[in-house]
Amino acid sequence: MKNYKPKNRLSAKSYIDGVLAGDRVILSRAITIIESNLESDKVLAKEIVQEILPSSGKSIRIGITGVPGVGKSTFIEVFGLHLVKLGHKVAILSIDPTSQRTKGSILGDKTRMEELAILQEAYIRPSASGDTLGGVANKTGETMLLCEAAGYDVILIETVGVGQSETAVHGMTDFFLLLMLAGAGDELQGIKKGIMEMADMVVINKADGDNITMSKLAKRQYQNALHIFPLAESGWSPEVSTASAIKNIGISHIWDVILKYKKLVDENGYFLKNRDHQQIKWMYNNINEELKHMFYNSKDIKTKLSVLEKDIVSSEISPVKAAQQIIDTFKKSFK
Ligand code: GDP
Repeated sequence: MKNYKPKNRLSAKSYIDGVLAGDRVILSRAITIIESNLESDKVLAKEIVQEILPSSGKSIRIGITGVPGVGKSTFIEVFGLHLVKLGHKVAILSIDPTSQRTKGSILGDKTRMEELAILQEAYIRPSASGDTLGGVANKTGETMLLCEAAGYDVILIETVGVGQSETAVHGMTDFFLLLMLAGAGDELQGIKKGIMEMADMVVINKADGDNITMSKLAKRQYQNALHIFPLAESGWSPEVSTASAIKNIGISHIWDVILKYKKLVDENGYFLKNRDHQQIKWMYNNINEELKHMFYNSKDIKTKLSVLEKDIVSSEISPVKAAQQIIDTFKKSFK
């Protein structure tokens, strides 16, 4: 299976030229190559990404998170439409760790963003699937570069506020937006302190109808909560605001805040410093993923692991000793 080479692949040059020309069909096909696990596609993907790299990066990358039901898709649709009206080209990507385990992912199984999806100025791509969050994140990162090279100047990367994927999204974006609801405790919303700490902006969503008073109260509470955190390296103090995607209230303010942030970090040098730092981290992520892949796909390791698993269960060997034996096997295969 691994060595199977699909017939419908184009030459690397065709993908590169198509992406650079902003051809959406070719862009989608190139992303399929990025997401593929076939060895021949991996080679092709590396070539495409390397070649489009100089044309990437000219965007603002925004991470958006919040628990399921907070209104992410509704918000992104309205926010995206606002940005398109302002003349931007918007790409919407997602990192959804649940898509690795279950067939229907949290982010992917609804018909989402119908109005935005039909616009030429918007490009929506559901989450890549993969065995590990790191692998999925790497693929989304490369997809983002391709979208930038195709002319999308605002990249929205969405994730569900339930776990590690926020850290991955934070690690590849310039600005991190957290959507919250009024009246639900932090525990209820499953938002951990660490995620609050990453936020450049907290938006209390669904601030409409009977919810307005509660939302204003929640705004003050979050402002107080964020004050406790030390000033971020960016020099930016996170903003809290209220919004209603359904009533289109507070949406343009959010973009204004993002622009204010961008101005600050452009001037104080943090924008580029952060991107440089992210690039280096990305290299390490790739090394980690590749090593893990090589390790667990090695025939010797697979065989030995299945034997040692049984030995551990029957108490013939301790887990620590078993791990050492596996590592020794791996080392030998490199001599
Ligand atoms: P997601 O799971 O975070 O993507 O949330 P959705 O965008 O699917 O929204 C979940 C529910 O909240 C839907 O029933 C929406 O109609 C509703 N909703 C989304 N935004 C708003 C809003 O601004 N105000 C109100 N009242 N409801 C909203």
